[in-house]
Formats: sequence, structure tokens, C-alpha cells
Amino acid sequence: MSENLSSGGLWVFCEPTPAGVHPVAFELLGKASRLASDLRCSVTAVLPGKNGSLAPGLGAAGADTVLLIENADTEQPDELQYTAILTGLVRKYSPSILLFGATAFGRSLAPRLAARLDTGLTADCTALAADPETGLLRQTRPAFGGNLMATIVCPEHRPQMATVRPKVFPAPVPDPDKPWRLITEARTAGPRAFEWLEQLASGADSDIGEADVLVAVGQGIGSAENISLAEKLARKLHGSLASSRPLVDNGIMPYPRQVGQTGKTVSPRLYLALGISGAIQHMAGVAAQKLVAVNTDPDAPICGYADIVIRCDCGAFLRAMLDLLA
Ligand SMILES: Cc1cc2nc3c(=O)[nH]c(=O)nc-3n(C[C@H](O)[C@H](O)[C@H](O)COP(=O)(O)OP(=O)(O)OC[C@H]3O[C@@H](n4cnc5c(N)ncnc54)[C@H](O)[C@@H]3O)c2cc1C
Repeated sequence: MSENLSSGGLWVFCEPTPAGVHPVAFELLGKASRLASDLRCSVTAVLPGKNGSLAPGLGAAGADTVLLIENADTEQPDELQYTAILTGLVRKYSPSILLFGATAFGRSLAPRLAARLDTGLTADCTALAADPETGLLRQTRPAFGGNLMATIVCPEHRPQMATVRPKVFPAPVPDPDKPWRLITEARTAGPRAFEWLEQLASGADSDIGEADVLVAVGQGIGSAENISLAEKLARKLHGSLASSRPLVDNGIMPYPRQVGQTGKTVSPRLYLALGISGAIQHMAGVAAQKLVAVNTDPDAPICGYADIVIRCDCGAFLRAMLDLLA
């Protein structure tokens, strides 16, 4: 089928999830179609699994081609297996650009593939732009603890590879009339890296990296009772509870909820920081659309980052908010 898929295109990896495809794939397809019009190339959605019924949604989101990889295991996706499959496909079709969501799986898969293909990878991009003259992808990401934005290009090797944080780009408005086509590949699945023994439910609200709203607590939260109130507020706002590092170090909050340089990078629409000073190592993980800081100290560094500063005791703020939303 190689004659049907032109080389030099822009590929978006569509991560399988139990619900279908990870939402970041749609965000990337929307961005990819804008980049592709600058670069005058096509967009391919790389969709593992046999479920062709997901393809029209990817076509409507911007894919010119949906490349269905039938033998990839979507029940128990495995980085080693996917690396082998994608290496073969990239060598066969020679895309110029390959984008992944910076999800836990994408962050594990993309570097393996880049190493196998002997090319570069820019992780955790927050902006992408195309240079139509050179065909280069300008990949921007925070560097030096978020103090600097670095724009990186990969002039010598192909494909140019990047991971992009979820919610950096808006999901496109689907266009069901846009033409697209389906190509099916049945690659040998290859060895797995892991043997799956059991899959444990992680709790509906535990992935802070994907939450739209985060209520984050720091050392200024004051008491366990206030943490319970913060969790209640997070639930009311359909969000999750996050934490600064000292609370994790002290065993008060679990590590998966830690935001920052040594925790997770988050990009919610709203980040409500309660009693967090805004140390550089914390802010390195915060890429929120709106940051609201509740702090008793108007000189706390977080006030310099915040869109709105509420100078108030955390406990008093939480009780007032919960009363308001009751
Ligand atoms: C290598 C390295 C990596 C690190 N990685 C991380 C990381 O990933 N994530 C992270 O968070 N930190 C990280 N840190 C730690 C970081 O430097 C800070 O120490 C930490 O972020 C501070 O946490 P905090 O803001 O909760 O506490 P504090 O700095 O103690 O701030 C508490 C804030 O609460 C306010 N406050 C006090 N009482 C109240 C009240 N009643 N109501 C409202 N506000 C109040 C205070 O004014 C203050 O601003 C790292 C440090 C190092 C050296």
C-alpha cells in the first residue's frame, strides 16, 4: 500500500484508550492540519487497533489519511511492541514529522522510537510552528525550570519528533464533510516489554495531568481538615486535587498528585493554588490557562504568576467557596 501514502507527511499518533482515542490526538490533528497547510503536506492519523469506526472522527478532526495498524494490541498497549511496529511503518512511509501526546504512554513510547530511528525528539512542547522554506518544525518548550522558552529544530534527521502536552492546542471543530481515506496495515506485533498481570483502577480523579480544573494545596493549607475541604471543592468544580512537594515529602499527599519539576506537568484550564508560595521548581510544572492564587502573603512569588490573587486565609476561602456552591 506504500504507493497510497506519500512520504514527507505529518503523522499524529492516536493513543488508544478504553474509551477510544486519547483526546490529545484530536488537539494534535487540529494543529497538524494548520502546520500541513503551511508545509503543503498531508496529515496522517496513526490509529492502533482494528476499530475502524474511530477513523471518521479522526478524518473530521483533520486527518487526510487514517492508518489503521490492525495487529497493535490496544487492550494492553505495550511500548516495546508499538516501537517495533512504528519503526517499520516510519521506515516504509518516511513521514517528515511525527507528533505524540505527552501522556504517560506517549512519553514512554516517543523516546524509544526516536532512539530506534536515530532522530531527535523534543519533549513536552507547548508550541509548534512550521517553516515553509526549510520544512522544519519549530518546537518550543519551557527550559531551565520554566524561566526560558527554547525553540528547537531538527535539521539533519527525519522524522522530526515532538511530544505535546494535552490541552496546549484547542480541539478542532469537526468537519464531517472533509474527505479522508483509510489505509490498513497488519504488522507483525513483535515482543512485548511487559507482562500484564493485573490492571488496577487508579481512581476517577487521580490523573492530575489531564484535569481541566486543579485545586492545589501547599504548606499554607494549614490542616488536614482544610485538605478535605479542598478535595470537596475540587469535586464540586469537576476537577482534581494536586499538591506541592513538601506535602508529598511529609507523606500527607501521594506522589502522583505532586506538581512541579520533580512531579507532574499540568495544563488545566484553571489552577487554584491554595497556600503555595510559587517556588520555581513548583511553577516549572504549571502551564495553566488561568492561575488563581489564594495566599496571605502579597509578596509570595506566586502572586507574580497569578491572573487573580486572593489575599486570604485558605481555610476561610474554602469555607466561603463551599457555602457559595452549596
Ligand atoms: C531539586 C528540587 C526539586 C523540587 N521539585 C519540586 C516540585 O516538583 N514541586 C514542588 O512543589 N516543589 C518542589 N521543590 C520544592 C520547592 O523548592 C519549594 O520548597 C516548594 O514548592 C514549596 O512548597 P509550598 O509552596 O507548598 O510551601 P512554602 O514555600 O512554605 O509556601 C507556603 C505558602 O503558603 C502561604 N500561606 C501560609 N499560611 C497561609 C494561609 N493560612 N492561607 C493562605 N496562604 C498561606 C505562605 O505565604 C506561602 O506563600 C523542589 C526543590 C528542589 C531543590
